[in-house]
Amino acid sequence: MKKQVILFGAPGSGKGSQAKYLVKEYGFKHLSTGDILRAEVKKGTDLGVRIAGRIEKGELVSDEIILELLQANLDLDNNSYIFDGYPRNLSQAQILCEKLLANYNVIAIYFDIDVSVLTKRIVNRLVCPDCQAIYNRISHPPKLGAVCDYCHGQIYQRADDNEETVVSRMKIFQEVTSPVLDFFKEKGTLHTMNAADDFDNIRERIKKVLDNV
Ligand code: ADP
Repeated sequence: MKKQVILFGAPGSGKGSQAKYLVKEYGFKHLSTGDILRAEVKKGTDLGVRIAGRIEKGELVSDEIILELLQANLDLDNNSYIFDGYPRNLSQAQILCEKLLANYNVIAIYFDIDVSVLTKRIVNRLVCPDCQAIYNRISHPPKLGAVCDYCHGQIYQRADDNEETVVSRMKIFQEVTSPVLDFFKEKGTLHTMNAADDFDNIRERIKKVLDNV
């Protein structure tokens, strides 16, 4: 059965960085709802303007909008995906696991980390708009200054990566998203990583999980 992987964890817990590696190593497609939403914002459509308002306040975008954009980007017959940033509440988890992925081998990987250390990570996060590479001003700065090491895109800081918005995002994670953990536990699909560990160790642990399920 084809594998479909869900990376689950608080904002800044390292899902996006590991996703990049898994795409390279296993040929998964990376499906980040945050990236899909930012692409819609960039188009400047009415929908994009509404989405931008929610993201800038650190609030979730509605389930209906997310599902529509998700389905427009999904080709499950031909691909194995890394879901990054979806599901983010119980109703999204039910739609994904009980409807869209009902006939697949679903592996949920939880990036477990104390949310109190994440604010510092997020306010120092920089990203490449072209290849979505993720940097950190302190722990992993781009070697070439303002341009991406991989594709030379112009590195920027996301509009929602500021202290004020992070407070709201973390609150939503704790109140609305983390209850989804019990849902995955009951399904028997949950694998927990210590997301405070270093990148290579986490990568190896994920590799072991994927090679053994
Ligand atoms: P992070 O992992 O740092 O939170 P994302 O790129 O996953 O960043 O998400 C950025 C923002 O996009 C979220 O704060 C939220 O407003 C919106 N978003 C992303 N995924 C979803 C989702 N599945 N449901 C609702 N809103 C979402």
